[in-house]
Amino acid sequence: MTLQVNQLVKHFGGVKALDGVSFAVQPGECVALIGPNGAGKSTCFACIAGQLAASSGTVAWNGQALLGRTPAQRLRLGIARTFQVAQTFEALTVLQNLQLLLTAPQGLRGWNTLDDSHAEAALDLLARVGLHEQAQRDALTLPYGAKKRLELALALAGLQTATPGSALPSQAKLALLLLDEPAAGLAPIERTELMALVRTLAAGGLAVLYTEHNMDAVFGIADRVLVLMDGVLVAQGSPQVVAANEVVRSRYLGRSFKSRPDALPVKATDHA
Ligand code: ADP
Ligand code: MG
Repeated sequence: MTLQVNQLVKHFGGVKALDGVSFAVQPGECVALIGPNGAGKSTCFACIAGQLAASSGTVAWNGQALLGRTPAQRLRLGIARTFQVAQTFEALTVLQNLQLLLTAPQGLRGWNTLDDSHAEAALDLLARVGLHEQAQRDALTLPYGAKKRLELALALAGLQTATPGSALPSQAKLALLLLDEPAAGLAPIERTELMALVRTLAAGGLAVLYTEHNMDAVFGIADRVLVLMDGVLVAQGSPQVVAANEVVRSRYLGRSFKSRPDALPVKATDHA
């Protein structure tokens, strides 16, 4: 159960958003993909999850080639994602958001309403992401941090429904979760809590690959860090190794960057 990305290339006209990117992610691993704005992080996610067609290269999950499959087909193989800007169903309550996703594969039966459908499974997922108490709230009124959690629960719900009959704990062992800036726009405390949740998901057996600009959501959280610049991976390895890398320090983190656990949270500069 490994994600294998090999020599991945994506061109947009003359722009090489990805220029031969290779890396692997194992189950239970929490890997951060970092780099300046425009480095190609979101493009990389879209090529793995299927929103974009790669120009060349290969992406395999558990030995199965992903390129050429639709996002729905990839979800069935266990590839789920969230987006840089949270995507939720605003007109529904938090609980209904999950019920809708859990119900979608079969549709509503007979006279059942959405509110009768999969309520228990939906509440379980909300509890997993710490949104249990917000269940009846309209998604529209959620603070942004809670919306990011809801999106995480929706991604887990998608995995649960993609392989009917499989309960999440076993399915999670087979899944890759791609999180594009899961903590973007959050206050430091919310960010810390959300990243702790992300770590818990990886500890439960999920392979997690996430992008992030705030270094306090990378160092101390990620098992491994990949650094992308201008579509090329310039460094990868343990957080300590990456933080000591000369190119990464001079072009992204800044020379004064310290990754000690007691270091103050640092926001990397965007070279947009
Ligand atoms: P990141 O997520 O690291 O900020 P992106 O993957 O969004 O970077 O973008 C990488 C490069 O590809 C940028 O130069 C961006 O302008 C370009 N790009 C991304 N998406 C498109 C698109 N749909 N059409 C044209 N160019 C794009
Ligand atoms: Mg992006």
